[in-house]
Amino acid sequence: MNDPGSTVPSATRRLPADAAGLAEAAALLRAGRLVAFPTETVYGLGADATDPAAVTGIFAAKARPRFNPLISHLPDAVAALAEGVFDAPARRLAEAFWPGPLTLVVPAHTGTRVCDLVRAGLPSLALRVPAHPLARDLLAEVGRPVAAPSANWSGRVSPTRAAHVLDDLAGRISAVLDGGDTPVGVESTVVACLGGPPRLLRPGGITRAALRDVLGLDPAAPEAADADRPAGPGMLASHYAPRARVRLDAVRVEPGEAALLFGPRPPAGHETARASLNLSPAGDPAEAAARLFGALRDLDASGAETIAVAPIPEDGLGEAIRDRLARAAAPR
Ligand code: AMP
Ligand code: MG
Repeated sequence: MNDPGSTVPSATRRLPADAAGLAEAAALLRAGRLVAFPTETVYGLGADATDPAAVTGIFAAKARPRFNPLISHLPDAVAALAEGVFDAPARRLAEAFWPGPLTLVVPAHTGTRVCDLVRAGLPSLALRVPAHPLARDLLAEVGRPVAAPSANWSGRVSPTRAAHVLDDLAGRISAVLDGGDTPVGVESTVVACLGGPPRLLRPGGITRAALRDVLGLDPAAPEAADADRPAGPGMLASHYAPRARVRLDAVRVEPGEAALLFGPRPPAGHETARASLNLSPAGDPAEAAARLFGALRDLDASGAETIAVAPIPEDGLGEAIRDRLARAAAPR
């Protein structure tokens, strides 16, 4: 892989998930440095959201386009409510799903501490209260909003363990707090509450059905205007991409292909695949989501030119899985 990260000597520290590791991670963040940390979804690349110089470092380390706004992370709902303006649906969603894998895009509070660069100049702000105990402890110790996109090279597969972060960003960030594998495995659901009907900007760890239960209606689709100016890289057509080409809804695996399988009845030809992994032999979408990004990285490492992906149903976390795979398969 030709990430600059893999050719730079590694000066990135791997911090343990104990009190000393947390204190060191918090001190680095408060000093304006970049620290990757686990959330329940994927590893985030954190920086002090109130410090434009620190936030600039995120865009540089990931090679992320500047026009794409970042999500700000807070330790609890009270802290998050102080940064934005929450209408009734936003309050209901926050109450139901925080802490958890939901990001709310709301109008920024006039007194928000989050700097303009995080918002890419937008009047709105994306806020999340993660549920992972290490993330919550870290955020509480930092005491400021922490901006954090996924801790991977921009456009590539998101990291679900510390080793993935180091594969992409070693030598480019100060540290990674190692909390083991992230349990949800796909990014947060992003819902915009900007006065009109709540809009689902990105499917993720909270399912559409769970949103519907709380809102009493299906969340609306993004506005057409959002298509011209995507709200974030996760909404670009090509994203989450392994090196290999990705072929979706494969009903047979061709010789030489790697195979990403799902469920008890894998497609014909999978026995002779160059490499194969089953996301969930039992057909459980939550188990499949937790394994998705690690499996894509592992199949990529097999050297196959194409990864054939078995059909994955749309229900539950299947919507988020299919969204990520469609972007991984999109023309680059
Ligand atoms: P990621 O790179 O995974 O952190 O993606 C960030 C996501 O946050 C994007 O996909 C956007 O949908 C969303 N986002 C962040 N800030 C805003 C904002 N102000 N307005 C709309 N979406 C936002
Ligand atoms: Mg990302």
